[in-house]
Amino acid sequence: QMKSPDAERPLSTGLNSKLVKENGKLTEKVWKSGGMYGAAIDKVIYWLEKAKTVTENQKQANALALLIQYYKTGDLKKWDDYNTAWVSATDGNIDYINGFIEVYNDPLGHKGSYESVVQIKDFDMSRKMEVVSREAQWFEDHSPLLPQHKKKNVVGVSYKTVNVASEAGDSSPSTPIGINLPNADWIRAEHGSKSVSLGNIIDAYNNAGGSGRLKEFVNDDEELRLAEKYGELSSKLHTALHEVVGHASGQINPGVGTPKETLKSYASTMEEGRADLVGLYFLYDPKLQELGLVDNWKEMGKAAYDNYIRNGLMMQLVRLEPGAEIEESHMRNRQWVSAWVFEKGKKDNVIEKVVRNGKTYFNITDYDKLHDLFGQLLRETQRIKSEGDYNAAKKLVENYGVKVDQAIHKEVLARNAQFKEAPYRGFVNPYITPVKDTSGKVTDYILKYPKTFSEQMLEYAKEYSFLPDNN
Ligand SMILES: [Zn+2]
Repeated sequence: QMKSPDAERPLSTGLNSKLVKENGKLTEKVWKSGGMYGAAIDKVIYWLEKAKTVTENQKQANALALLIQYYKTGDLKKWDDYNTAWVSATDGNIDYINGFIEVYNDPLGHKGSYESVVQIKDFDMSRKMEVVSREAQWFEDHSPLLPQHKKKNVVGVSYKTVNVASEAGDSSPSTPIGINLPNADWIRAEHGSKSVSLGNIIDAYNNAGGSGRLKEFVNDDEELRLAEKYGELSSKLHTALHEVVGHASGQINPGVGTPKETLKSYASTMEEGRADLVGLYFLYDPKLQELGLVDNWKEMGKAAYDNYIRNGLMMQLVRLEPGAEIEESHMRNRQWVSAWVFEKGKKDNVIEKVVRNGKTYFNITDYDKLHDLFGQLLRETQRIKSEGDYNAAKKLVENYGVKVDQAIHKEVLARNAQFKEAPYRGFVNPYITPVKDTSGKVTDYILKYPKTFSEQMLEYAKEYSFLPDNN
């Protein structure tokens, strides 16, 4: 029955409290200093006070001050004020997430789980994004789109990658890979939101388990060599081109509705495929070397194409149950892009299907022609979006992106079975020790890791259990 004073800007009622019946009366126990979990929250405040003295700018300090007031009072209006300040503090290299935030663990969607992430800008990735973003118009002008579908003034989408320094609460030891906050819709509409991709976490997920799986599915030593040398760089550049240029590229014809209206259930996979294709088209282009993003554009481009086809036609199937169809938008688009170029290149043997000792491999024989095929498919995908051609979208996705080759799927699952991996993974946080010179100035940091996951959790229990047993 609780109502927000301003219906246009509703408070996140119930976010930081527990409802109990005491002596027949419904009582709200608020999580705050002096309230429920008070002893632990006081420690949070203690560290936030310290953080406030070392911020990079005033906006960061203002946001921290509001967060401290919120923890002291439990006042949800302060929580909204804090979020408004936090979302506008965009300058600086360090940022953080802190509070009772995500509500998806509560069946009624009200109670927030405590989480904390401290993150630092990914300087290498940010530089790459900036270069790509600065050249957004060049990419648009040189794309294979029909002239009437090209944007005259394209602006790169802003996209941030960060590296996590430490995580706690509900974001640890099992962590998200991307964060988009705040949750309140009215704050998002009036003040915007922050969206970050957690680069080092994604990288760790991708590389966990070693190169065994890669070795199983590559066709030859050259493919393996290029994948090992350029795998990480090509995937970073593909992400940069996909996000910064891909989603920003192209325009819809006058009078045609949004893709959601025209392409309906195919809008999302068509958009992801289109952005992927912009990336694929330019990943094999000397321009990237000219821009200083890669030392050998051709080898990097080859690695990117090998990886995309290997994944789109085979490796991603490890995620599906036998007999299932592909439903997830990104998985669909990776298959329809790969399967389309495979089929259209058949007469020239652009991608050959090799079977050795009962194992299937896809071997790209002509990268120039494959580049051209990606360009043709990009032009067609943009045409479908620009004209709102529902039937063409449906045909493309249904014919190439949904059905799974049952024999290949069975084979992929069998070949994958030797690689044992837990479906969920936990992370350890580093101990970060500052190194100081004689004047006490910090000159470096030493990172050390706990030897095992249990060692870390036992230490946390010993050092950071601030709540009395009866709380
Ligand atoms: Zn995308």
